[in-house]
Amino acid sequence: MSIVATARTMHRLNRSQWLDADSIRALQTRKLKDLLNHAYATVPYYRTLFDDTGLTPDDIRSPEDLTRLPVTTKATLLDLPPDQIVSSAFPPGSLISETTSGSTGRPFTMRFDKPFQRARNALFMRALTTAGYRLGKRLMLITADAGKPSRRWLGWRYASIEDAPERLLGQLNAFRPNVLYGCMTPLRQLASLIVESGADAHRPGAVISTAEALDDRTRRLLKQAFGADIYDVYGLTEMGLVAWECAQHEGYHLAEDTTIVEFTPTDDGQHHSLVMTNLELMGMPLIRYQTGDLGVPGPTGTCGCGRSLKRLSRVEGRLLDSVLLADGRTISPYRFTLAIEQVPGISRYQVLQDDIDRFVVRAQSDYGDHTETSARLTAIIADLAGPNATVEIRYEDDLDPPAGRKFRVVESRLARTVSA
Ligand SMILES: [Zn+2]
Repeated sequence: MSIVATARTMHRLNRSQWLDADSIRALQTRKLKDLLNHAYATVPYYRTLFDDTGLTPDDIRSPEDLTRLPVTTKATLLDLPPDQIVSSAFPPGSLISETTSGSTGRPFTMRFDKPFQRARNALFMRALTTAGYRLGKRLMLITADAGKPSRRWLGWRYASIEDAPERLLGQLNAFRPNVLYGCMTPLRQLASLIVESGADAHRPGAVISTAEALDDRTRRLLKQAFGADIYDVYGLTEMGLVAWECAQHEGYHLAEDTTIVEFTPTDDGQHHSLVMTNLELMGMPLIRYQTGDLGVPGPTGTCGCGRSLKRLSRVEGRLLDSVLLADGRTISPYRFTLAIEQVPGISRYQVLQDDIDRFVVRAQSDYGDHTETSARLTAIIADLAGPNATVEIRYEDDLDPPAGRKFRVVESRLARTVSA
């Protein structure tokens, strides 16, 4: 990958993060026009989508006009052959395929062009830099990429999300990174080990959490264990980093210079699903793509850091994990977490919806006597899900998912698909 092209992309995105709101909008409008013309001319799926809607790319003159186009779901793309969804503008073999199994269990293959990969790397570097990382500093990454060669010349060292916390602690103390980056679950396990054992642990200058929603309790634990400022980032395997925190910690800045993010009301009108149009991805464009994540808009106006990029307050969970009730109501996962976090003595928990009216709450409790805790948890589920719901409370020491899988605070196991 050309160093010059990489440096140019980083320079471009380092500048555009500071644009004022009008300039960001102008940038989005210009890039959107290029994207739509490209998709219409070279991607059969989008050409058909436009034609069926009676629109041409010229009809979409602003980011707001995008809502005239239908939303595209992953399920739709999964059902189509590659030549329908991949741009014919790229020679076969020039695109890099990345396959994820995802929560649906059906493998989904993205095709990334080289300029997009440079942008994705630059967005990652931008988030690292915001957390205080600089080239030449030591960075330890706890990711699923541990099989990749460590970029030692960069001062980067990979550890595996499947490593036991004791091993991660050894690596942390041996490598002494300036910045620690990792998926939330192994970071939390490492932090628990440090706090509970009182072991000597190296203190990095900053810790960056990714891959799973970071709840307040875990954030406090990380802060306590590492004595560092904690930054969270939000991204998708389909398009890389989408939002990241600055030192103000007042919401996540949306990477509006590379992505148009719509907060689309859900069927019940109470929540917003995140629908995204990636402005960099040309090999396999994603236009009004239903991410399946629920999000809450953040504070408006310019942030204390100087960025005017719009903000996301938090990701509430996945659309699939919103809880569908027998009476047809859906409840955002966040309502369960808000209520349960008020119950004293619970250090960690998970809500599983096994069936339409059957819930299991798995909890780790600091108290020996669970009578009061169980009564409160039962009352919370009854309050949210109705009196007919049955609730089982289980006290468990280890709530972690199998290695390599994401922990979801609220998990609905009802079989259904995400719809627009
Ligand atoms: Zn900011």
